[in-house]
Amino acid sequence: MRNTPGVEKCLSELAALLGHAGYRDGEGDLIRHSRDASTAQACLPIAVLRPKTAEDVSAIMRICRQADLPVVPQGGLTGLSGGAVPVPDSVALSLERMNGVIEVDTINSSLTAWAGTPLETIQAAARSAGFDYPVDIGSRGTATIGGTVATNAGGIRVIRHGMTRQHLLGMEVVLADGTIITNLRSMLKDNAGFDLKHLFVGSEGCLGIITRVVLRLSPMPNDRHTALLALPDYDAALACLASARRTFQGDLTAFEAMWPAYWKLACKMVVTSRPLFSDEHQIYVLLEITGYERGHFETWLEDCFATGLVTDGVLAKSGGDAIAMWSIREAVGDVDREIGAHLNFDIGLAPSELADFARECDRELGEFVTQDILHLGHVADGNLHVIVPVPADDERRKLEIERRLFDLLAARGGSVSAEHGVGSLKRPWIGKTRSPEELELMRLLKRTLDPTDIFNPGKVIP
Ligand SMILES: Cc1cc2nc3c(=O)[nH]c(=O)nc-3n(C[C@H](O)[C@H](O)[C@H](O)COP(=O)(O)OP(=O)(O)OC[C@H]3O[C@@H](n4cnc5c(N)ncnc54)[C@H](O)[C@@H]3O)c2cc1C
Repeated sequence: MRNTPGVEKCLSELAALLGHAGYRDGEGDLIRHSRDASTAQACLPIAVLRPKTAEDVSAIMRICRQADLPVVPQGGLTGLSGGAVPVPDSVALSLERMNGVIEVDTINSSLTAWAGTPLETIQAAARSAGFDYPVDIGSRGTATIGGTVATNAGGIRVIRHGMTRQHLLGMEVVLADGTIITNLRSMLKDNAGFDLKHLFVGSEGCLGIITRVVLRLSPMPNDRHTALLALPDYDAALACLASARRTFQGDLTAFEAMWPAYWKLACKMVVTSRPLFSDEHQIYVLLEITGYERGHFETWLEDCFATGLVTDGVLAKSGGDAIAMWSIREAVGDVDREIGAHLNFDIGLAPSELADFARECDRELGEFVTQDILHLGHVADGNLHVIVPVPADDERRKLEIERRLFDLLAARGGSVSAEHGVGSLKRPWIGKTRSPEELELMRLLKRTLDPTDIFNPGKVIP
């Protein structure tokens, strides 16, 4: 443990500062905060800190810094890269009590919230004021808005609305020395010097602790149409995507592809009254359009059938149908549990290359797996999720799978993380994506903002 004699004193000061509700070191709390939703190995923190205000967070940082005690920020613990998993001899700083929408500003179309507010609460508050917060991910019920900012979360509507970064107007953040930087204005345009908030977007808890955010709200979408399509091959999916873009332009809001091995398992998990398609197909696409009349959408779909782009398809007739369709795409968590131990990849590559890359993975990794490799993703954004079943205790095999997959990816100039972030799991591989000069600049920023490496050590930067 770093600076052990000081740590006991530091823990007593933290307990006195935060009281019983804010300082937890019981076994149940430590276990609950020992892991995220990724495959990273759990690690118990020494204590769980649950501040209520930015001033609490500031005081925590001053105390921890004196004892050189690492602080691991935690939101909803839904991360898939090990970013929020405590490191040995660290404290977990959970934002769970900094929870709630502070204001919805209907004139300036913005919403201010505490960082620990679940994404779903933000979406509901926006909706009840007549707006939309369009960043949406399967973990919306548990992921926090601060976590989505810290990971620059993407999700299912990036094709239309962009990543979390595009929706951030203001931020409050606490630095390693306890300084509170508050910029909670709702201005869309502000070129007065560096746009500092963007330093912390996607910083995965390594540069500061986000305590409050101001978000830009969008108009409420109308006429949302959802369809599940079965296509003859991936080329047809790309042609279908191009056609949907030409026809609906910015109103294509989702284009999610699922390969057959994932499709079969997901349909097994999601109980439907009857099979959606009688035959097996090469690729399945969940597509969503907003802002067009249904007749227009149906005509476009008929053209797709006529030209052979689409082999079979189901159009949602109600909101309930659409939810049922999305549940197949969002069954990924259940599928992960069903297949047991696995490695989860979240790669970025040009959409036109994803199918070839998926085939290469099947070929190159086949000898290591006893079950099918699963592929699915936000393909219009060039983002493929690859789930590779692998025995939990076979570290050598896991390493070899990672090495081969990332070598294939590097040969194509792809990214080791399209949206889940680097955390601890992809940290050894970030050099496959980022140049030595980029990594050195990241180190320089880290050293400048966090000279003693107190925030989330061992994450992101190798
Ligand atoms: C079923 C499922 C579906 C998912 N779908 C998607 C998807 O479509 N797109 C996508 O991008 N992700 C997805 N994810 C991953 C995950 O939900 C996101 O990464 C999410 O943004 C994490 O939020 P969280 O609050 O759970 O953060 P955590 O997991 O708690 O933390 C994530 C990282 O952010 C840091 N952090 C958290 N809060 C703060 C804060 N306030 N200040 C500073 N640092 C902080 C942590 O230290 C850690 O490095 C999915 C996960 C699951 C389980």
